[in-house]
Amino acid sequence: MEGIIKKYREFLPIKDDSKIITLNEGNTPLIRTSRLRDYINRGIDLYLKYEGLNPSGSFKDRGMTVAISKALEEGSKAVICASTGNTSASAAAYAAKGGLKAYVLIPKGKIALGKLSQAMMHGAVVIQLDGNFDEALKIVRDVSGKRPITMVNSLNPYRIEGQKTAAFEICDQLGSVPTFHSLPVGNAGNITAYWKGFKEYKSCGRISSLPKMIGFQAEGAAPIVRGKIIKAPETVATAIRIGNPASWKQAEAARDESGGTIDMVSDEEIINAYQLIARYEGIFCEPASAASVAGVIKLNKEGYFKKGDSIVCTLTGHGLKDPESAIKISGEPITLPPEVDKILEILEL
Ligand SMILES: *Cc1c(COP(=O)(O)O)cnc(C)c1O
Repeated sequence: MEGIIKKYREFLPIKDDSKIITLNEGNTPLIRTSRLRDYINRGIDLYLKYEGLNPSGSFKDRGMTVAISKALEEGSKAVICASTGNTSASAAAYAAKGGLKAYVLIPKGKIALGKLSQAMMHGAVVIQLDGNFDEALKIVRDVSGKRPITMVNSLNPYRIEGQKTAAFEICDQLGSVPTFHSLPVGNAGNITAYWKGFKEYKSCGRISSLPKMIGFQAEGAAPIVRGKIIKAPETVATAIRIGNPASWKQAEAARDESGGTIDMVSDEEIINAYQLIARYEGIFCEPASAASVAGVIKLNKEGYFKKGDSIVCTLTGHGLKDPESAIKISGEPITLPPEVDKILEILEL
């Protein structure tokens, strides 16, 4: 099936005759871990939903196919968003496919290089602000009220509609419902979307129970955990470097209705998980994505999980988006002259 709208149309606000803009997003793998699971806790079942394999390399594509298709249906000529990087990459790609103009506002110097290259390559007008994501979002909300331009941040309800399809896919792939679903939390649109998706699948009888939602913010950008707006959020996980989440209330509702939790993890814990996922499972995700696994490691140490629990962690974006973070923690490659003896010396065999 090409894309999430065709696959899950009955759950989406798309008219049958509307033109669909898709890049064949969705249908990403749900990977059962082995070595990572053994490292964390042999008594649990741990899966990774690898959203980095979407067309632009993050889950944002699920929401963007719906948001851009609706923008076209409504006669819009241009879209605008504030972004920590992946929303701009996705908006630029889908706008290109749909023939719309895209404007993206990003915090200067705080987005991963791969994401910036995507937005520029797809022809978006990229505006760097000497400010953070929260300030950029405020401006975008203002501007979209003053000009005929569609805002495609997750405040746009069609984004949430598209993103909820990841929850459907997980249930379809697993053939059941996980005990826990773990996500990184930034602007909190995704945790809101997954919870909506799980609830809708239950109300139509496709599943009979609901997972507990567990979300993780970075310690330096944890407004929900701390119960107050963070004016100057800071974390290596730039995709969740947000101090005043737009879907704050909805994230708390997902946590409370499901009986889950929203907690925080340190940059050190995020980087550790980022490396473990790559080295134990062969999966390269970006730092923010690893917050979902870092959180599971943290809660596991506190005895949060029971034997037999199944946990799905969403890996929200692809590691190649941010090669600088990967290289920074991996050290220098070994440099040698082109001689067999020198190579044999370093093989620990
Ligand atoms: C956008 C994004 C997040 C945060 O998602 P929210 O919906 O803002 O909570 C996490 N990880 C990656 C890679 C992202 O692009």
